[in-house]
Amino acid sequence: MNDLAFIPLGGAGEIGMNLNVYRCDGRLLAVDCGIGFGGPENPAVEIMVPDPAWLAERRDALEALVITHAHEDHVGAVAHLWPALRCPVIAGPFVSAVLRRKLAEAGLSQEVELITLPRRTRRALGPFEIEFLHVTHSVPEASALVLRTRHGTVLHTGDWKLDPHPLIGPPTDEAAFARLGEEGVLAMVCDSTNALVEGHSGSEGEVRRNLAALIRGLKGRVAVTCFATNLARVESIALAGMAAGREVALFGRSLRNAVQAARECGYLEAVPDFVSEEEAGFIPDDNLLLICTGSQGEERSALAKIAADTHPNISLGRGDTVIFSSRMIPGNERAILRLQDELSRRGCRVMTAEDHAVHVSGHPARDELKRLYELVRPRFAIPVHGEWRHLSEHAALAREWGARPILVEDGDVVRLSGQEPGVEGSVPTGRLAVDGNRLLPLQGGLIGARKRMLFNGIVVASLAVDGEGRVLGRPRVSAPGLFEAEGPEPQQLADELARGVNELPKGLRREDEALAEAARGVLRKAVGRRLRKRPNVEVHLLRV
Ligand SMILES: [Zn+2]
Ligand SMILES: [Zn+2]
Repeated sequence: MNDLAFIPLGGAGEIGMNLNVYRCDGRLLAVDCGIGFGGPENPAVEIMVPDPAWLAERRDALEALVITHAHEDHVGAVAHLWPALRCPVIAGPFVSAVLRRKLAEAGLSQEVELITLPRRTRRALGPFEIEFLHVTHSVPEASALVLRTRHGTVLHTGDWKLDPHPLIGPPTDEAAFARLGEEGVLAMVCDSTNALVEGHSGSEGEVRRNLAALIRGLKGRVAVTCFATNLARVESIALAGMAAGREVALFGRSLRNAVQAARECGYLEAVPDFVSEEEAGFIPDDNLLLICTGSQGEERSALAKIAADTHPNISLGRGDTVIFSSRMIPGNERAILRLQDELSRRGCRVMTAEDHAVHVSGHPARDELKRLYELVRPRFAIPVHGEWRHLSEHAALAREWGARPILVEDGDVVRLSGQEPGVEGSVPTGRLAVDGNRLLPLQGGLIGARKRMLFNGIVVASLAVDGEGRVLGRPRVSAPGLFEAEGPEPQQLADELARGVNELPKGLRREDEALAEAARGVLRKAVGRRLRKRPNVEVHLLRV
């Protein structure tokens, strides 16, 4: 097909699970490959990834997978999905450092060709020529991706913001965006996260000053939680602690990994080695500051363990302070509030971005979006990285700035070349649940059964019959989560099952499958009468 098209497989109409595909003259390029969280709609699922089936079937045409930055919603699914894609992976130096660690954990280091592309360096990939431009974001070395093709140039912004004082790395390369605007941009695929937020997202520099002033005035132990990969923030917290005469300890694996990747890339030089978790407990309260994982209320995080007082090395209580230098990602509110509540119950003072200026977003608010449209002047605007209300507000803003918006959702095929660009078809998309080492379809199948089990329970019966289908002995019934194992109900159900089976027609009782199905029916009715529920019912039939 001799055209240029944009095909989002994840991340359009939702936040998280970014997976974008560009098609040029029949060749494909994937951009970002991230995870999402199951959230309240998917109680049986912790982590989800986009279903790569459509792309995997076309992997012969796939030139590469390009990663814009080191956040989990952009890089977190690479190790899960690469085995289906098997293409080179291209990223900047910091993403490469983070990814190398993830691939090693997954045993894929030897297989994946990981190409580190410095910014402002052009690289040809089949009909595409790609180039990273530097943007500021809440992680070091985020990049926007320029895709030059014979049909025109696309700017894929990734996540970005404008910040005159980003603290780590230079500010967003506005000059490069202006030059790109001069060159002419066919379409801009752009971050919509904060399209509903008026004004400016604020500066990391302000947060640094505020944290320093706040922490200077505190007594007792101080713990601060933030996103592990927000290294400017980690640095600000560490410097604020040091300025207040505190030693700084890191709590949590993802923080230690991020700090290690950062040091490999030459960041955090102003911060000496952190105190280990083991040493922290021996430091006087007023001289200790902890940086912890757990800002999203994650169950196994350091802060969750501290709140539950199950952490082996440290405890917090009356007179101590916990600062949440983060925002609540939609879907995590309940877990976060529960964690904060638990900490207050222990006597800790809890401070958040709601009451203290200890966080700024890494995504552009409306003034920043306007500035980028002013610089880049794309003909078409494709809002992504947002839910529908973000995408449609972003589209309205783009129109004001002279771009024609195209609203898309996952699976749309947006033709960008030719006379009348727009959505011209769709491809299948979906989500997969990460379940240990497996990827399982989210709809139906095992995950569906598990969800039903979670709400309706499961009843399992074992039943021995003779050649004629007469029940031998007493069947065994167990229903964990529905009836107490020692209670009378499992026995009663077993008796009802035996009676019901013995009453079935003789012919039916001689056929194993028909008999098992009929026995399931008997049991289902018996349980339904007691519970007014429809649990999963399993019958193991043994013919003796
Ligand atoms: Zn991001
Ligand atoms: Zn993102």
